[in-house]
Amino acid sequence: MDASQIEGDLAVDQTFLTEQQIADRLAEMAAEIRRDYEGQDLLLVGVLKGAVMVMADLARALDRDVEMDWMAVSSYGSGTTSSGVVRILKDLDADLTGRHVLIVEDIIDSGLTLSWLTSNLRSRKPASVEICALLRKPDALQMAVDVRYVGFDIPNAFVVGYGLDYDERYRNLRQIATLAPHVYS
Ligand code: 5GP
Ligand code: MG
Ligand code: MG
Repeated sequence: MDASQIEGDLAVDQTFLTEQQIADRLAEMAAEIRRDYEGQDLLLVGVLKGAVMVMADLARALDRDVEMDWMAVSSYGSGTTSSGVVRILKDLDADLTGRHVLIVEDIIDSGLTLSWLTSNLRSRKPASVEICALLRKPDALQMAVDVRYVGFDIPNAFVVGYGLDYDERYRNLRQIATLAPHVYS
C-alpha cells in the first residue's frame, strides 16, 4: 500500500521518510551493529507491534546469524504513563542469561516504555542490553536510558506507517508519513 491508495480518505498528509530513505539508514545501522557484535551471539528483541517492519528489515540487512524474539507490552492507562509502569502482554521465549540483547523499537517518544523494558531485561542477567530505535522524538533525549543506535531524530509530530499505527491502521504503509490533522483532532 502506498499513500496514493489511501488518499481517498485524505488521511496521509505528507511523506516524512520514503521507503528508500528508511532502507538506506537501516543499512548504515546494520553495518554498525554488525561491527559492534562481531564474533558475539546476538539476540534481537522486537517490541510488538510497531517494531515488526524495522525488525524484519534490520535483521535481514544485518546479514549474519541472529536470533529474533518478541515482546508485547502496554502502559497502564494514560493517567499513569508518567510512572513508566508497564504490563507485559507477551513475554520473551528466550532465556536471556549471558546473552547479548539488542532491543529493536520503532519509535521513542517519552522513553518511559523503553526505560522500563531495559531495566526489566537487565534483571534477567544478560551479558548486555542495548537499544536500537528507528525514530526518536525530542522528549526522549531527557531520558536516562542510552539509545545506542538511532535511525532518525524527528520533531514532535505524530507519524504513521512502516509499523506505526493510528488506531491500528496504516502500519502497512511502506513510507513514514504524518497524518492530516482532521484524522485525530
Ligand atoms: P514512550 O514510552 O517512548 O513515550 O512510548 C513509545 C510508544 O508510543 C511507541 O512505541 C509508539 O507505540 C507510541 N508512539 C509515540 N509516538 C508515536 C507516533 O508519532 N506515532 C505512532 N504511531 N506511535 C507513537
Ligand atoms: Mg514501539
Ligand atoms: Mg500504537
